[in-house]
Amino acid sequence: MQTDPLTNPLTKNVGAENIATDLERYRANGGYRGWQKALQMAPGDIVKTAQDGGLRGRGGAGFNTGLKWSFVPTGDDAPPVKYLVCNADEMEPGTFKDRLLMERDPHLLIEGMAIAAYAIGARTAYIFIRGEYHLATARLERAIDEAKQQGLLGDNIHGSGFSLEIYLHRSAGNYICGEETALLNALEGKRAIPRAKPPFPQVSGLWGRPTVVNNVETLCNVPPLIDLGIDWYRGLGRGEDAGSKLFGVSGKVRKPGTWELPMGTPIHEIIEECAGGMCDGLKLKGFLPGGGSTNFLGPEHLDLPMDYGAIGKAGSRMGTGTIIVVDDRTCPVGLVLNLSRFFARESCGWCTPCRDGLPWVVQLLKRIEYGQGRPRDLELLREQAERMGPGNTFCALAPGAAAPILSGLKLFERDFSEHIARGRCPYVAETEVLEA
Ligand code: NAD
Repeated sequence: MQTDPLTNPLTKNVGAENIATDLERYRANGGYRGWQKALQMAPGDIVKTAQDGGLRGRGGAGFNTGLKWSFVPTGDDAPPVKYLVCNADEMEPGTFKDRLLMERDPHLLIEGMAIAAYAIGARTAYIFIRGEYHLATARLERAIDEAKQQGLLGDNIHGSGFSLEIYLHRSAGNYICGEETALLNALEGKRAIPRAKPPFPQVSGLWGRPTVVNNVETLCNVPPLIDLGIDWYRGLGRGEDAGSKLFGVSGKVRKPGTWELPMGTPIHEIIEECAGGMCDGLKLKGFLPGGGSTNFLGPEHLDLPMDYGAIGKAGSRMGTGTIIVVDDRTCPVGLVLNLSRFFARESCGWCTPCRDGLPWVVQLLKRIEYGQGRPRDLELLREQAERMGPGNTFCALAPGAAAPILSGLKLFERDFSEHIARGRCPYVAETEVLEA
């Protein structure tokens, strides 16, 4: 099955048989047209197209991609060596969108990287891929080989004078490796701890050279934007933001999954029409709009369009755009505990509020969930999560971990209090015993 490239530029090949290993089929469906066109353009015009097209980073932060590229020094006194890095270390809880693109249409990413590297003047590019993504790794390796064989990568591409090598680097497996500066340390063979910003990587990144780090889905947006232009791209969005987006839903819905939809699609449409609504007998009690490090929103927010501005105004973040649904029979305290355990395990230990704060948070949440919570524990939990907030750490891991705790304490206040008042989790039968 092939979908319409004009409405589904990211997934137009995803359902096509054998597309993952078949460069010919990719090309037959318009593949590498953007790259051919880009090679006829001045690099600065590509940067401007990305900027004016309104392409925003799909890794979670939503920073304007062209603006990011524009920070890379150009001109005669600019450093001669620059790098492009694709962040394919997808590990945000509930997030499984980049994997789909890499497994099902690896040439789209290779083409996006080629255009981005040309735009910023990088002749070496890396894909830093999650270690567990074995199939994606194999398919990307093959796609790089195929592209090289056809002269789409390598030396003097199509006589343009531009050369590019793309290398795959498999992560040793830690959530923090996806933070862009920790990722650069990992690529350099150092311990993956975040660096202070500024300087931002665009100025001083890999081995101190100007480096752009872009997410997989972001780079996959580049070929259609260059091929079909700004007006088409902006027109794809239904709300404030341009383009289409891979949205996902997990939790107790009938059909969890990932779909490409216009940016700005209302949340209820994604949950009801794509994910088939809640499983029988369950009601939606709340949701995390964009992965495990965003703030919970309640059912009153279901009409919001999924775009960066609208979700931001409602007090959360669109993040990775992958919704985690909470139903009325799942314990929200247990869910927050599960997320906090993950973040505590994945902390690199560099900053005190994260290294020491997260284990304290886990202890408090365990106490509450397993029935030994004291009334003062809720205030202690709030205070501790606030200490992990923005500005107290080098990177976004601890503030991200604090988000579902602080917003969960507000949205599910009754649940937290009931655990303490009853001395047990109200979501399990009285005869059942929860074990830590
Ligand atoms: P950030 O807002 O600090 O930066 C986003 C990007 O914009 C970076 O590339 C940064 O270099 C650039 N940038 C920001 N301000 C800049 C400035 N003033 N000048 C130049 N460049 C600037 O966010 P972050 O810490 O890189 O990422 C946090 C996000 O990552 C969260 O939103 C989270 O949802 C997401 N995340 C995603 C995954 C995943 O698996 N996809 C995993 C963890 C976190």
